[in-house]
Amino acid sequence: MVDLRSDTVTVPTAAMRAAMAAAPVGDDVYGEDPTVNALERRVAELLGHEAGVFTPTGSLANQLGLRLHVQPGQELVADSLAHVVRAELGAAAAFSGITTRTWSAPRGLLDVEVVRGLIAPDAGPYLVSTVAVAVENTHNFGGGTVQSLAELRRLRELADEHRLALHLDGARLWNAHVATGVPLRTYGSLFDTVSVCFSKGLGAPVGSMLVGSTTAIAAARVWRKRYGAGMRQIGVLAAAAEYALDHHVDRLADDHRRAQQLARACANGAPVVDPDQVPTNIVPLDLSATEWTAAAFAAAARESGVLVSALGPRFVRLVTHLDADDAGVTYAGDVLSGLLAQQGPA
Ligand SMILES: *Cc1c(COP(=O)(O)O)cnc(C)c1O
Repeated sequence: MVDLRSDTVTVPTAAMRAAMAAAPVGDDVYGEDPTVNALERRVAELLGHEAGVFTPTGSLANQLGLRLHVQPGQELVADSLAHVVRAELGAAAAFSGITTRTWSAPRGLLDVEVVRGLIAPDAGPYLVSTVAVAVENTHNFGGGTVQSLAELRRLRELADEHRLALHLDGARLWNAHVATGVPLRTYGSLFDTVSVCFSKGLGAPVGSMLVGSTTAIAAARVWRKRYGAGMRQIGVLAAAAEYALDHHVDRLADDHRRAQQLARACANGAPVVDPDQVPTNIVPLDLSATEWTAAAFAAAARESGVLVSALGPRFVRLVTHLDADDAGVTYAGDVLSGLLAQQGPA
């Protein structure tokens, strides 16, 4: 099976497992796990922030960030395809009483003028006041797209002008960094809080982090414990993340190259994707120009040993990762382009 459903499906390598087994640990609720403390310092520094807090999931890192910025009844704005809006099960509303409005963003790409038109800062006693903006980079459901640095800088100016907090969902910020060469710190320092995942392209089995100011992260630590995610000897998990930062960042370029290869193979079968719009490791397939439904396409691919995600009636997503090598990706490209060339179920 070549599993292209997500970059979360990777299993830890033997070397990563060895690093995990060897990690010095302590009780992290007491702040005594040296491996966690070192990782939190390292990632905060990498992203140009004062402090970091390790979390089991990216969703928790996002939700801790959002709740720091937005009080109950206040408003967060984000694009309508954002993970915080679509894929966190309404957590911002359920846990933090946050109300959300969205703007539509083709391919998830930020246009600050659209955000400017949507926000309602200091809206007075009758309307909901916007206090925070969330941005995703790379953008998952947008197709692994990378936000323009110039546009992010303009967003920071808009936020400063209206005293809005900015949260970056950087689950795949590593991919944006490798695709563009923009330093992580350049991206990170434009935001008040940033979440990153170690369990996507970096190949760790679990783990994410929220970074921000010392005060913000101290507050996030309280909320993490309150949510039941104060963890003990998790240096074994931090060691996997540490290993991934040392060994699995630069190789993301291989995932990007393989995603290009898949996009070109699929485009050869039918006009379902523009390879020029596949900058990182996610290949979005729009099957509207074929007879295929996403479900039938995914089932047919599975018959031939290729797993893909059907995320909408006509929308399929392929994701390359550490455990999809050249041979697997070449095989998958042949299978998928063959199915697409058939135009529909036989
Ligand atoms: C995966 C992902 C997250 C976090 O997901 P978890 O499964 O909670 O770790 C957050 N944002 C984006 C864009 C993601 O792709």
